[in-house]
Amino acid sequence: MSRRITGRLVIATHNPGKLAEMRELLAPHGVEAISAGELGLHEPEESGTSFRANAAIKAEAAARAAQLPAFADDSGLAVDALGGAPGIYSARWAGDGKDFTAAMAQVERLLQERSATTPDQRKAHFVSALCVAWPDGHREEVEAHVDGTIVWPPRGTKGFGYDPFFLPDDHSRTFGEMSSMEKHGLPPHGMGLSHRARAFLKLQAKCLAPEDGDDR
Ligand code: IMP
Repeated sequence: MSRRITGRLVIATHNPGKLAEMRELLAPHGVEAISAGELGLHEPEESGTSFRANAAIKAEAAARAAQLPAFADDSGLAVDALGGAPGIYSARWAGDGKDFTAAMAQVERLLQERSATTPDQRKAHFVSALCVAWPDGHREEVEAHVDGTIVWPPRGTKGFGYDPFFLPDDHSRTFGEMSSMEKHGLPPHGMGLSHRARAFLKLQAKCLAPEDGDDR
């Protein structure tokens, strides 16, 4: 039996963009999102070997420290021809300067080294793992992905990170060319296309109260 999320929830991120996005997603469900930054919580080392493990490390550390339920996410890009790299190291490939132009060029260089030139040799997926942990040790976890192809050169200036060279399957524009509503928007306004949107929809179905006026 999955546990419902009610009342106050710590968002275990120090990233203001992620915090704002989560606040927006949770507000209609009567959940009050408090940031780890506001509570002065420190960021644990992401020492896991999977997205799921790293999300759990972050959520459990925050739940223990704040003695409140806590939410964390971990995400990244996995390229098939590179054995799933950069994977859980997606942020690190961009270095301290967060240079995603260089990180995308590095992925492309490795694909060229492997003569991966046709779309079917350039398959990739974004992954999002979400975890809610309670102070008593209970955890709810979901994971979702979106499949696509790596294109070169990168296209578009919207989004962030690896968006400009990721072409989601059955679409003609990269994530970097899509508006945030097209990429992340949830039904009924959006299609729930991105890995994060898909993971949130799973979490919503499992753990969140229906929105007011929604008679599911
Ligand atoms: P973390 O989840 O904060 O550890 O960071 C994961 C990294 O994966 C980010 O720094 C981005 O570079 C990359 N990433 C995750 N989701 C996306 C996305 O939707 N678009 C582009 N890059 C992403």
